[in-house]
Amino acid sequence: MQTNFSPAQLADPDVAESEKILRKCVHCGFCTATCPTYVTLGNELDSPRGRIYLIKDMLENGRPADKEIVTHIDRCLSCLACMTTCPSGVNYMHLVDHARAHIQETYKRPLLDRLTRATLAYVLPYPQRFRAALKLARLGKPFIGLFEKIPALKPLAAMLKLAPASIPAASPMALPGVHARQGTKKGRVAILTGCAQSVLDPAINDTTVSLLTRLGVEVVVPPGEGCCGALVHHMGREEAALASARQNVDVWTRSIEQGGLDAIVITASGCGTTIKDYGFMLRLDPAYADKAARVSALAKDITEYLASLELPEPVSKPGTVVAYHSACSMQHGQKITRQPKELLAKAGFIVREPREGHLCCGSAGTYNILQPEISARLRDRKAKNIEATGASIVATGNIGCITQIASAASMPVVHTIKLLDWAYGGPRPDGILDESLVAAE
Ligand code: SF4
Ligand code: SF4
Repeated sequence: MQTNFSPAQLADPDVAESEKILRKCVHCGFCTATCPTYVTLGNELDSPRGRIYLIKDMLENGRPADKEIVTHIDRCLSCLACMTTCPSGVNYMHLVDHARAHIQETYKRPLLDRLTRATLAYVLPYPQRFRAALKLARLGKPFIGLFEKIPALKPLAAMLKLAPASIPAASPMALPGVHARQGTKKGRVAILTGCAQSVLDPAINDTTVSLLTRLGVEVVVPPGEGCCGALVHHMGREEAALASARQNVDVWTRSIEQGGLDAIVITASGCGTTIKDYGFMLRLDPAYADKAARVSALAKDITEYLASLELPEPVSKPGTVVAYHSACSMQHGQKITRQPKELLAKAGFIVREPREGHLCCGSAGTYNILQPEISARLRDRKAKNIEATGASIVATGNIGCITQIASAASMPVVHTIKLLDWAYGGPRPDGILDESLVAAE
C-alpha cells in the first residue's frame, strides 16, 4: 500500500513503525473472511482491511480520532485472526495498538464510556480491588434486567452477568516464595501469578505449581509481580501498560540474576501474548529494551513449556472426549496450535476441534463488557460449534475464554492444565462430574 507520510511525521518512531506495517498491506482482503466482526456484521469497515484504511487515513492526516474510527476500532477484538490469515505479514497487532493509543490521546469519549473504562482500568488489574468489586457485584445482580434496557448501562449489565456467584478464597500458593521440586531437577521457572485469573480461578496456578514440582521443576513466585498490562494496553492506556511491563521486567530480571530461569511460565494466553511483546513495547526505552527482550524470549505458555519436558506416562488414561478451544491469543497471538492438543492426547483424552476454531469466542479481555452484543453473538456461535463436537468437557488455556464459554455451554469448561494434572496423578478438577467422564466409544 502506498503511503504519504511527511519526513516530520516519520520522525515519530511509532508513526514510522505503523508506516512500515501499512506498506506491507496489498489490499487483497484475504483477512476479511476470518475476521469475526466482518463475519458477524458484514461491514467492510469492521474488517481488518477496512480498519487498516481508517487507521492509515487518520495517521497520515495527523488527525485526532473521530466517532467513526472509534466505533470500528472499538469493535475490533484484537483476536489477531487477520494476522494468521494475511499472506503479506501485516502486523495488525502493532498497528491497532498504535491506533488505540492515538484514540486514547485525541478522542473524548462520552462520560459514561469514560467512567466505565476508567473503572475497568482501576479495578481489573489489581486482585484485591477486583475481589472487592466482585463481592459488590452480587448486590447489583437483581438490577441486570433494568440496566440492560438502558443503552449506556449495557456494559454494567454485562459486567454483573459475568461476575461469578461465589468467589474462591485467595491461594497461599500465589504468595512470593519458592516451590521446591520433587525428584531429579528438570528445570527452574517463574510463574506469572496474574490478576483477574488469580481471583476467578486460583486453582489454575495451584494446579500448575503442583504438576510442575511433581515433574521436577522448581517454581519461583517472585515478589512484586503484577498484572501483565494487557487489559490497559488494549484500551490504549499506553503509559499504564508500559508501567506494568517495566515492573514485571524488573521483577523477573532479579529472578534471572539471582538463580537463573529456564522460562517464565504463563497460564493465561492473553497475558502470554503481551509479555512476549514486551521487547517491542519497550524497544524505545534504553534502560529496558534489552531486559524486556530477554523476558519476552523466556515467556512460555504452560503447554509450550510442558511440551519441552520429557513427560512420564500418565497415571490414568481417562479416554474422555474433550473439545479443545484454542484461545485467539494462543493460536493467533502466540501461534501455539499443536502443543495443547498433543499433550491432551498423550494424557489419554480424545481431542476434538470445534468447527470455525479460528473465530473468537467474544471474550477478548474487556470486550465482553464493552461490546456485549457482538460478544454474545460470537459466544453463542462458539458454544453451538463446541456442542456439535459431542465432547463432555471443554479445555482451553485462557481464563477469559473459560468464563465466556462457560456462560453458554452445557458442559464443564476447564483450563487445559487441570486435565493434564489429573491425568498425571492430580485430583479430578472441580466441576467435572461422573457423567462428564463418559469414555469415547
Ligand atoms: S484483530 Fe480480529 S476482530 Fe480485529 S480486525 Fe483482526 S480479525 Fe478482525
Ligand atoms: S490479508 Fe493482509 S495484505 Fe491482504 S488486506 Fe488483509 S492485511 Fe492487507
